Amino acid sequence: MASTLGKKSSAKSSAKSSGKKEPRASRSGRMIYYFGAKKCDGDGTMKPLLGGKGANLAQMTKIGLPVPPGFTITTQVCIDYYDNGKKFPKGLEEEIASYVRLLEKETGKKFGEGGNALLLSVRSGARDSMPGMMDTILNLGLNDETVKGLAAATGNARFAYDSYRRFVQMYGDVVMGVQKRHENEHDPFEEVMEKLKHEVGAHNDTDLTADALRELVKRYMQLIKQRTGKNFPQDPFDQLIGAVGAVFGSWMNERAIIYRRKYKIPDEWGTAVNVQSMVFGNMGDDCATGVAFTRDPATGEDVFYGEYLVNAQGEDVVAGVRTPKPVAEMANDPVFAGTYKQLEKVRERLEKKFGDVQDFEFTIEKKKLYMLQTRHGKRTALAYVKIAHDMVKQKLMTPEHAIQSADPDALSQLLAPVFDRADYAAAKKAGRVLTTGLAAGPGAATGQLVFTAAKAEELARAGKKVVLARVETSPEDLRGMIAAEGILTSRGGVSSHAALVARQMGKVCVAGAGAVQIDYAKGTLSCAGQTLREGDAISINGSTGEVLAGNVKTADSELLQVLIARTMKPDDSDVYQYYSFIMKLADKHRKLGLRTNADTPEQVRQAIAFGAEGIGLTRTEHMFFEGDRIDAMREMILATKEEARREALGKLLPYQRDDFEGIFRALEGRPATIRLLDPPLHEFVPHDAKAQEDLAKKLKLSPDAVKARVEALHEFNPMLGHRGCRLGISYPEISEMQVRAIFEAAAKVQKSGVKVRPEIMIPLVGFRKELDNQVELTHKVAAQVQKETGEKIKYLVGTMIEIPRGALTADDIAETAEFFSFGTNDLTQTTLGMSRDDSASFLPHYAELGIVKANPFASLDTTGVGQLMQIAVEKGRKTRKDIKLGICGEHGGDPHSVVFCHHVGLDYVSCSPFRLPVARLAAAQAALGKTY
Ligand code: PEP
Ligand code: MG
Repeated sequence: MASTLGKKSSAKSSAKSSGKKEPRASRSGRMIYYFGAKKCDGDGTMKPLLGGKGANLAQMTKIGLPVPPGFTITTQVCIDYYDNGKKFPKGLEEEIASYVRLLEKETGKKFGEGGNALLLSVRSGARDSMPGMMDTILNLGLNDETVKGLAAATGNARFAYDSYRRFVQMYGDVVMGVQKRHENEHDPFEEVMEKLKHEVGAHNDTDLTADALRELVKRYMQLIKQRTGKNFPQDPFDQLIGAVGAVFGSWMNERAIIYRRKYKIPDEWGTAVNVQSMVFGNMGDDCATGVAFTRDPATGEDVFYGEYLVNAQGEDVVAGVRTPKPVAEMANDPVFAGTYKQLEKVRERLEKKFGDVQDFEFTIEKKKLYMLQTRHGKRTALAYVKIAHDMVKQKLMTPEHAIQSADPDALSQLLAPVFDRADYAAAKKAGRVLTTGLAAGPGAATGQLVFTAAKAEELARAGKKVVLARVETSPEDLRGMIAAEGILTSRGGVSSHAALVARQMGKVCVAGAGAVQIDYAKGTLSCAGQTLREGDAISINGSTGEVLAGNVKTADSELLQVLIARTMKPDDSDVYQYYSFIMKLADKHRKLGLRTNADTPEQVRQAIAFGAEGIGLTRTEHMFFEGDRIDAMREMILATKEEARREALGKLLPYQRDDFEGIFRALEGRPATIRLLDPPLHEFVPHDAKAQEDLAKKLKLSPDAVKARVEALHEFNPMLGHRGCRLGISYPEISEMQVRAIFEAAAKVQKSGVKVRPEIMIPLVGFRKELDNQVELTHKVAAQVQKETGEKIKYLVGTMIEIPRGALTADDIAETAEFFSFGTNDLTQTTLGMSRDDSASFLPHYAELGIVKANPFASLDTTGVGQLMQIAVEKGRKTRKDIKLGICGEHGGDPHSVVFCHHVGLDYVSCSPFRLPVARLAAAQAALGKTY
C-alpha cells in the first residue's frame, strides 16, 4: 500500500539506517497515558496526542463516569513507528508491560492467568473519529488455558468459549490477515461458523452451545494455520504486542486512506491505541451492550436515541448482524429499568460536560453500567442546524462551538432534493412501495439499482445515478457509497456501518429493510413479490425509510422552496428557522465578505437569498450565447475590417446593456465586478461543416471564407492563447462596446433612483502595461457615457490575478489596479502547468498516492498557488494600502480554501450561489481560529 507517511518514513529511515539498526525512542518522551481510579494522566483537551477516544476516556474518568481502566499509547508513538520503518520505538514494550501491571493492580485481575483473567480490548483512536475504518480487538489475553479458567470462574463455559471464538476471529482477521479475498466472497470465519451452525442445527449464533463453540475455536485455529502457515499465538503479551502493531498498521489500510482523503484528515496525525480492561455484555441475560446518541442524529430531535442488544458484545451492534432494540424500551424492561435511569443521567451529564451531542458506547455487565467511549456525534446537516439552534438556546453549547463543529460542506445537504409531492403520491397509490426500512439518512434518491461498489463507481463515472443495495455494508464499500445517490441495506440498525457513514456523507440511506432479499449471485433484489434486477430503476426515501420500485421525480428541498422558489413562507419551515439562526451566528463572526459569481439577474437574486453582498464575477461571455445574439457575435468575429466589427458590435450593445441593467437592478445598490471578454474567439464559432454552411448563408459569405476564418482562429493551446486582455488589446472595439454597455446601463439604473457600483475587471493580466492599456480605454469610454447621459457614476477598475507573472509583479500592477480578484482556476493551471480541462484523467490517482492532498482545482494548493496569492497580497497592499482583494475562482466555495483566504487577508470570497451557505460558515470558522 502506497502512502505518504509510509513513503516518507521509509525514505527517512533508509537514509538514517546505515549504521544504526536500533529503533529510536519516541520523540514525545512520554509514550503512555493511564486512565483509572488510581491515576488519570490525560484529559479531554489532549486529542492531538491521545486521539479523540483516549482523550475522552480520560475526561469521562475525570468526571467520575464508570469507565473501565486502561491506558492510551500516543499518536506520537504511531508517527515514530512509521518513521522507524514500522518498528516500535525503543522501550515501548517494557512500558506497555509496566502499565499492564498497573492495570492488574487496579482491577485485581491477572493478565494471562486462568482463574481471574484480566482481558483487554485494543482499539484505534485518531484525533478525529474515523468510524469503522481502523481495527479493534476484544477479549485479548484468552488462550487455550485462560479460557478454561474463565469458564470455571464465571461458571459459564458458553460465555468463555464465545469470548474466545470472537477473539480468535478478530485477531485472525486483523492481525494475521485472514480475510475474504474478493468482494463477493463471504468472510472466511463467518463461513466456518455458518457451516458449523448448519451441522449442529443452530439457528442463531446464540444457539451454539459451549461444546459447539469449543469446536468452532478449533476450526478457526485450523483456518488460520491453513491460510497463514502460523499457529495462533498463545502468549498474551505476544498477542498484545501484535494487536498494537496491527492497530498502527490499520492507519495505512486502504479504507482508512480513502476516508482521510475524503475528510481531509492529514496522514501525519497517526492513531493512538487504547488498551482497556474488558467488561462483558455477553455474560448472560442481565448483560447488554449498546450505542446511543444524546439526541437523534438524523433529525436533531431532543430524544434519547440508541439501541441495545441483550447478551452481546459491542461489535454485534455496530456490525448490524442482529437487529437491536431501541434504548427507550429499556425503561420497560424489568432487568434493565434501573440501569436505564442511570443512563438518562449519563446522557444529561455528557451534554453538559462535553457541550455537544454525544455518541457513546456502553456495556452492562450484570446490571452494572460501564462507559466505553464517547465522542461528538456525527449528524446530518438537518440535525446539525437543529441541534446547534436548540443547544445554543438551552445554553448547553457555545455559539462558537456551534460554528466550529460544523462541516460546512454538509450544508449542501439541506439543499438536496426531496421527492416531488405529486409523483411520490402517485407512486404510493400505484402500490410501488415495496417495503419500509429504517430512515437512516434523510433525502430522496432515485437511480439505477446496483449491488457492488465497483458497479456503482463505474456507472457514476459514466454520469448515471445509482442506488447501491447491499445486505449490509462494510468499509470496503466506501467508494461505492461515495459514488451512489443513495444506499439501501437489508440488514442492520440505525448505528450500522451503512447508517453511520451515509449520515456523515449526507447520503440518502435506508437501512435494515428486512423484507428485501438481495441475491448477489443472481443480481436481483426481491421484495413484496417483485424482483428488480441490476440496472432497474429504484427510489428510496431516507426520511421515511420507504423503498419504491421505479423512478420518482425529485423536487426542491424545503430551504429552496423558502429561499428560491418562494413557494413556502419562512415561518412555515422549521428547517429554514434553524438554518437562518446558524447563518446569523456565522455572520456575527465572519470577517470575510461574501460575493457571488453570477451572470443573470435570476442568479443574482438567488445569491442574495443565500447571503451574497455583491457580485465577485460576471463572466460577460456567457451572455453572448443567449437567443440569436450569437449571430451578431459571429458576424463580429468573421469581419475582417474594424468598421465591420464595429457594426456587428453595435448589434450586441443593446443586449449587453439590457443584461447589465437587469443585474444592477437585482443588486439593489450592491457592488458588481464585471469582467470584460475572456475566452478565445474560436469558442464562439461553429466547427462542423454544416453549421459553417448555415452561418455563411446567414452572413452572406462563402462557406470557404467561414471555414478559412475558423481555421485561422484555431489554437493549439487555447488556455494560453489569444484570450483575456489580449483580445481587448488586439480588438479595442470589443472592450469599448462592453464598457459602454456597462456604463449606459449603470446610468439608466442610477437615473431611476437605484444605486449602482460597477467594478470593471480586466482578465489575464501579466504585464502592467496590458492593464494600463485597458484601463485607459475604460476611463475614456466611461467619461464619454457620463458626459452623454449627465450621470456621474462611481466605479473602480481592477484586474484578475490569474497568471504567475501577475502575482509576482503585483506591486507594479497595483499602481493601476484599484482591486485584485484572484482567478484561482487559471492561477492553478498556470502555476501547476496542469490543464484545468483534462487533468481529471490522472488527478484521482495522484490523490490516492498522496501526491496531492486533494484536487487542486477544487481545493486550493495553499503551498504553491497560495504562496503566489500571499506574494500578490503583500505587494499589492504595499503599493496601494486600501486595494480591495477577493477571489472568484471555484475555490471561493470550498471551505478549506475559504479558511486560507481569510488568513491570507482577502476582503471577500466569491462563489456560485448554492455554495454561499458553505462559504459563509467556513468564513466564520476561519475567524474563530480554524486553520487550513
Ligand atoms: C479563474 O480563472 O479563476 C476565473 C474565475 O476565471 P475563468 O474560470 O472564467 O477563467
Ligand atoms: Mg480565468
